[in-house]
Amino acid sequence: MDIVKGNMGWIEVVCGPMFSGKSEELIRRLRRAQIARQRVQIFKPTLDQRYSNAEIVSHSEARIPADIVSRTSEILDKLDPRTEVVGIDEAQFLSGDLVSVAQKLADMGKRVIVAGLDTDFLGRPFEPVPQLMTVAEEVTKLLAICVRCGNPAKHTQRLTTSEELIVVGARGTYEARCRRCFEPVAPQPTLFEKQKTAEKQKTKA
Ligand SMILES: [Zn+2]
Repeated sequence: MDIVKGNMGWIEVVCGPMFSGKSEELIRRLRRAQIARQRVQIFKPTLDQRYSNAEIVSHSEARIPADIVSRTSEILDKLDPRTEVVGIDEAQFLSGDLVSVAQKLADMGKRVIVAGLDTDFLGRPFEPVPQLMTVAEEVTKLLAICVRCGNPAKHTQRLTTSEELIVVGARGTYEARCRRCFEPVAPQPTLFEKQKTAEKQKTKA
């Protein structure tokens, strides 16, 4: 953000598929704010417990301490009034009121940086990130690299057959795919999975 006068707040969104470096970019921006001696607070939802409870950790192991919240409103409860920069990771796991919470923080004069997935495993808009993009001053859409063909990838391909909207996992459960290689349906169960299900049904009978 170039010339900002007074203590005007604003919203930045860092979005893209998994493996596009969103947390890395969020951590980079927050670190730079810390170097500028600004007061920084970082929040992340409880649902994402892949790596660590009290830290944001990128896939390449960059880390920064974070406050855990189970509901969006907790961000306001846990907010230190002296905080100048608010970072929020994994925004797709927070409810739609993140939009009004982010607006409120920006109206209070804080710089709000939100990172999260903009599309789900079927390539559909994944709220609340798309709504946040419309109210933000600045949007950065990152791309990953398609593991099939090496082209820029905007999709998160789910590799399991689950049809739940949220299945937490990293490598092995998801991979980055480009527009051409993306298969927006749950992949068919493998022969091994079919055999396992058949065995389970046998034992039930
Ligand atoms: Zn591809």
